[in-house]
Amino acid sequence: MKDKDIIITKCVELENTYSNLPEKLYSRQKPSDSPSPKLVIFNDSLADDLGLNKDFLKSKEGVDFLSGNKILEDSTPISESYAGHQFGHFTMLGDGRAVLLGEYISKNGNRYDIQLKGSGVTKYSRGGDGKAALGPMLREYIISEGMNALGIPTTRSLAVVTTGEKVIREKILDGAILTRVASSHIRVGTFQYAANWGSVEELRTLADYTLNRHYKKEDYEGNPYIYLLNEVVDKQASLISKWQLVGFVHGVMNTDNMTISGETIDYGPCAFMDIYDPETVFSSIDTYGRYAYGNQPNIAMWNLARFAESLLPLLDEDEKKAIKLAEKSISNFGNLYKKYWYQGMRKKLGIFNEEEKDKDLIDDLLAIMYKSKADYTNTFRSLTLSKLEGMDIFKMEEFKSWNNLWKERLSRQEEDEEASKRLMEENNPIVIPRNHRVEEALEAATENNDFTVMKSLLDAITRPYDYSNINEYYSMLPKSNGCKYRTYCGT
Ligand code: AMP
Ligand code: MG
Repeated sequence: MKDKDIIITKCVELENTYSNLPEKLYSRQKPSDSPSPKLVIFNDSLADDLGLNKDFLKSKEGVDFLSGNKILEDSTPISESYAGHQFGHFTMLGDGRAVLLGEYISKNGNRYDIQLKGSGVTKYSRGGDGKAALGPMLREYIISEGMNALGIPTTRSLAVVTTGEKVIREKILDGAILTRVASSHIRVGTFQYAANWGSVEELRTLADYTLNRHYKKEDYEGNPYIYLLNEVVDKQASLISKWQLVGFVHGVMNTDNMTISGETIDYGPCAFMDIYDPETVFSSIDTYGRYAYGNQPNIAMWNLARFAESLLPLLDEDEKKAIKLAEKSISNFGNLYKKYWYQGMRKKLGIFNEEEKDKDLIDDLLAIMYKSKADYTNTFRSLTLSKLEGMDIFKMEEFKSWNNLWKERLSRQEEDEEASKRLMEENNPIVIPRNHRVEEALEAATENNDFTVMKSLLDAITRPYDYSNINEYYSMLPKSNGCKYRTYCGT
């Protein structure tokens, strides 16, 4: 590969601590060239939050940086090694189409990976072209920014550039690169890789790096690796409860797509559920519903068990003791998940304090929603607005009885109706990135080079709790065409 042109600027300073790790964990990798890069979307508010230099990033040289044409002086771009269980099968993977340009320290002092996704072949491409098409990269941009606005931990999207190159999929498509920002890209699969192909010392170095990157030393209690395991279990229980509370279906919860930071990552075949149904699956390849909406908590626990297995040599020298410790930590997932889920559900129903019977009230509402095929988001939205009309569920006798019990429940707390309504507004989105609206935005952008539809959608979904500004267009359900919405992996 020809040597990269270097940008000599102090406009963005990157560090490369990951490349101090054992060499097995990454490979040095410069991004491929993009023949005629063009910035098609840029996230001003994220750049502002991080304190990134927008003028530089939008300049010609900045676009060369975002398209991999030029790299910063002193930068050590790498691709990371990782393995993973994909639909239950263990494989060696790695960044097959991503290059980590470096780590950026934000104005708040937080460290973020700046990664190019779709920037060409790497050591881990396994016969793939290392490239990405415009549609899937815009899709990741839309959904990740929507998730962030919903208050759900996630990797972020800084920019998308088209490369000027075509990529060949089922059709010939415009190539594109997404600039992804993440508090790290360390995955469950990164630990699986280190445990399987590295020495115990290499595994320990990765665990120490992870602890150092994501936790404060003064918070560790006892064995730091048990602390790490417990923290990751807790973070994932909280994350998955947040997905469930908004009806998000990730679609490909392989262990390589689960972060140690607790951020949602890898927006491939994900989508939001319309009608409440635990069996909801969108991904065309998830034939048996392994990653169905209702199965996500179980799968998270399964993935965390794989994480715990990878950590075993660090938990205790005595393997039996290590297994006991791991089992204890993993078995806690269910309780943590339920705690977060019911806490979230109470808020969605405007409930401040806890009563034993709340669980029944919540479970009963979901059962009625299931029976009446109610739209998940709009049911809670209507309850928040006290507009019990326009949906079949509100005509059901079962719902009317439930509604009386709910009103009684609300009257048993100190907070008044106004406070309850505010709590509901803060926890029930008026708008989510609905599949047909996302498709509409992507079609305009990829077929007609019209980004206005995507910008309007982003404007709506990045203010999901703003009840002073209700745009009915984004709450409308798709007109049924008899076909189930299907998503495809973002390759
Ligand atoms: P994903 O489904 O995006 O999580 O990707 C699963 C694995 O396939 C990861 O190792 C990716 O880096 C790799 N991969 C996905 N798309 C490509 C591609 N076009 N070329 C090479 N590797 C890819
Ligand atoms: Mg992935």
